[in-house]
Amino acid sequence: MVYNDELPPRVRVLILGGGIHVVGVLHDLASRGWMDIHLVEKKSLGQGTSSKSTKLIHGGLRYLRRFSDFSLVAEGLRERRLLIGLAPDLVQPVEFLFPVIKSAGMPKFMVKAGLSLYDKLAGRYRLLPHRLVPADEVTAKAPMLDQSVCKGVYSFWDGQTDDLGLVYRVAASAKKLGAGISEGCEVTRIAPSEDGWTVDIRGPTGALKKISALYVVNCLGPWANTLLEASGITPTHRGINNKGSHLLFDDIGLKAGLFLQSSKGDGRIFFVLPWAGYTLAGTTEDLYSGDPDKVGVDDADVEYLLENCNQFLTKKLKRADIRQVFAGLRWLAVESGHGLSDTSRHHVLGERVSKRGLLMTLYGGKLTSYRNLSKLIGDRITNHFGEFAPSTTDRAESWVGASDTPEVPSVAERFVAST
Ligand SMILES: Cc1cc2nc3c(=O)[nH]c(=O)nc-3n(C[C@H](O)[C@H](O)[C@H](O)COP(=O)(O)OP(=O)(O)OC[C@H]3O[C@@H](n4cnc5c(N)ncnc54)[C@H](O)[C@@H]3O)c2cc1C
Repeated sequence: MVYNDELPPRVRVLILGGGIHVVGVLHDLASRGWMDIHLVEKKSLGQGTSSKSTKLIHGGLRYLRRFSDFSLVAEGLRERRLLIGLAPDLVQPVEFLFPVIKSAGMPKFMVKAGLSLYDKLAGRYRLLPHRLVPADEVTAKAPMLDQSVCKGVYSFWDGQTDDLGLVYRVAASAKKLGAGISEGCEVTRIAPSEDGWTVDIRGPTGALKKISALYVVNCLGPWANTLLEASGITPTHRGINNKGSHLLFDDIGLKAGLFLQSSKGDGRIFFVLPWAGYTLAGTTEDLYSGDPDKVGVDDADVEYLLENCNQFLTKKLKRADIRQVFAGLRWLAVESGHGLSDTSRHHVLGERVSKRGLLMTLYGGKLTSYRNLSKLIGDRITNHFGEFAPSTTDRAESWVGASDTPEVPSVAERFVAST
């Protein structure tokens, strides 16, 4: 744990959780000059989904399947450019190779159309345009990609980060601007009160404390509705958890990421990427209804990933090659009539009112667009309070650099060693 500020008896805004959205809202409000704001996380910062993502700062090429998600993609592409500028040591452009498969998957014209649209939606925030890559260049960038299964290989660019590093950077930036952070503090109950809300918290020693807050922002992700229900508050939305699993291998020599479509009938997208000196393979889209604290990578996940990756590789990956594994949960608002893979990644903010105060609960969101979403939450709160001040998280002066950011745990300490 890095931050252990004393819990205040009363704050204007209390933000629950310690993931990217929580530190984002804290940073946003602090950047507006609001000092009376505090974050409480039950474990340590970034311990939930925010350290278990695919680590992409992207528009999300695969979200182009739905017209209604185009705005989400455009927002991600804008934020991608902004974050590369604001934290260049943490967010970097990465090239992807997108093989068009001979036997299955999307036809070449559709891949081309999707990539053209992706470039178009990026507009002036585009990195480099997509293009068809000659075979010898593919060999140089992905020597183990089996080109005999491909009709052609496209290149496009996106962004990549260390998700936990980004959480730490944003938290450190908020802290520098005067915000309070208490890790090891579990929220056990929220209740309406004359002053807004009373929140019960179990501190690191087990002692219970009450904090009174005018505004409460519930960014507990997969745990958000459980807390509301335990507090007798009916959630405004139903949420579902979409599980994603990742395997880390020693570097297999990729100079670019691989954006792959499963040829096994489910058409799922998965990634094989160079990351932090390792090769990271991962995919999402498994409905998960178990305890979020117990989510992990199981045998079926490993089988699925190995089998699908190996369809594209000349040198096959084996179980024994896996160094670390991790799984995370994407918490989404249920959309009636949609399956898991086409449930929108658009965020939803549920609101409950108590006297003058508000309780906001976040469903959905993305690492990439956390800053803009935090700004929307900050706008809502400051407008509601009647003391609007603009967010400045899009300016470098609101950010600290690497030297002012606590060191993140090493990759080996973060994930589960494969057995
Ligand atoms: C497999 C996978 C891959 C993804 N890849 C990408 C990607 O490449 N790019 C991208 O843009 N997005 C990606 N996402 C989405 C992104 O990771 C999430 O939207 C984001 O990390 C969610 O952050 P959060 O702050 O809402 O929640 P979380 O990070 O889950 O934070 C919730 C926190 O609440 C804490 N908590 C729980 N209960 C309590 C309590 N009672 N009291 C106090 N604290 C509590 C938890 O410990 C946790 O730290 C991915 C998601 C998944 C699942």
